[in-house]
Amino acid sequence: MAGIDDQHTKYLLSEDEMPTAWYNLQADLPTPPAPPLHPGTGQPIGPDDLAPLFPAALIEQEVSTQRWIEIPEEVQAVYRLWRPTPLYRARRLEQVLGTPARIFYKYEGTSPAGSHKPNTAVAQAYYNKQAGIRRLTTETGAGQWGSALAMACAFFGLELKVYMVKVSYEQKPYRRVLMETWGATCVPSPSPETEAGRRILAADPASRGSLGIAISEAVEEAVSRDDTHYALGSVLNHVLLHQTVIGQEAQRQLAMAGAEPDVIFACAGGGSNFAGLAFPFVREKLQGKPIRIVAVEPAACPTLTRGVYAYDFGDTGKMTPLLKMHTLGHDFMPAAIHAGGLRYHGMAPLVSLLYEQGLIEAVALPQTQVFEAAVQFARAEGIVPAPESAHAVRAAIDEALRCKERGEAKTILLGLSGHGNFDLGAYQTYFAGQLVDYSHPREEIEAALAGLPRVQG
Ligand SMILES: *Cc1c(COP(=O)(O)O)cnc(C)c1O
Repeated sequence: MAGIDDQHTKYLLSEDEMPTAWYNLQADLPTPPAPPLHPGTGQPIGPDDLAPLFPAALIEQEVSTQRWIEIPEEVQAVYRLWRPTPLYRARRLEQVLGTPARIFYKYEGTSPAGSHKPNTAVAQAYYNKQAGIRRLTTETGAGQWGSALAMACAFFGLELKVYMVKVSYEQKPYRRVLMETWGATCVPSPSPETEAGRRILAADPASRGSLGIAISEAVEEAVSRDDTHYALGSVLNHVLLHQTVIGQEAQRQLAMAGAEPDVIFACAGGGSNFAGLAFPFVREKLQGKPIRIVAVEPAACPTLTRGVYAYDFGDTGKMTPLLKMHTLGHDFMPAAIHAGGLRYHGMAPLVSLLYEQGLIEAVALPQTQVFEAAVQFARAEGIVPAPESAHAVRAAIDEALRCKERGEAKTILLGLSGHGNFDLGAYQTYFAGQLVDYSHPREEIEAALAGLPRVQG
């Protein structure tokens, strides 16, 4: 491209240039998403079914087809603590790789919690406070979501109880301290505090937990108390919506650089940071721009690349509505890989739909290659990527190296969803040569898929 800026390293927007509306992909989808179904009846759920869990404003956003949804001023005021976030040109990484490709990365690690997750945590805390709710419950894997929501609850004066997947609770004690610093209470899941937790512990006292189990516990507690709602950090439409500030800012920042992306990479656990970066560009793609958009997932939890597109529960205890999504089965127990934020059996219904329609691609990568790329990135650019984000880094580096082979000067946009400063234990394991690649045996995936609910669609 002729007009591309070859001078600058980062592209910053002023607070006045921060997006004032979220972009709702549902307004532009070629076909509408399949409705969530009631776990008992198998019929499409209505707003009343969700009312014990979420405030009306979020339930509305879940099904809205309005293209732009205004960001409340109170939410914008909190966003301004760290937004707009920077877009960087990875000049030093380009040099190290010797690639003619141009690599840009949109960095969400400047939020106080260190990831993109506060973008939705702040909005969810705000709407719950508006609705007169006093407490929230949630689950967290690696702790990023729990800490983001703990911070948001502190801003809006809400209590928070976090069910933290036991393996992470033990592996990542500092995340718990972070949550406690912002005022939240944190318990390891499965816990004896809920029916769902007690059931799992009875069957397997040594259970290391999973996101699916922790969701069951948090939902159970929210349903059983009038003053308490539940908040989910990914997967649902309203969560993906709140993240679209990322992609909207990136569009403006790339324009400042005179660049247009040929290919976009973002990691995908439940799909929220991927959606946040990608959806505004999916809109451009639907309008005819030839952009490749790639979700990057771990080989140890290959939801898009090896899961099936079917209705499934969001949790292990079968309490949530059934969502049509790519899933490895709600019983799927992912290996204890270090990208804790990517260990979820399902994928956001909107991301799954785009994949099914061929509008996005997906690739699954083994974690040793991912950490190798993360270290290369840190040594070139300084920022230590979160293990989750490092999946996108690996994919972007691979693309840049292909560009080198072919002599192509493509423009690559990479979503750097967070920093890895709380994940140094994972880096330590990598440097000690103790990180193993884990690819789930076909039989294990088939066994988990055999437990899918039998519904039409
Ligand atoms: C939680 C997390 C993810 C994965 O969740 P998504 O909903 O797929 O975005 C990715 N990166 C970071 C830094 C996270 O904290």
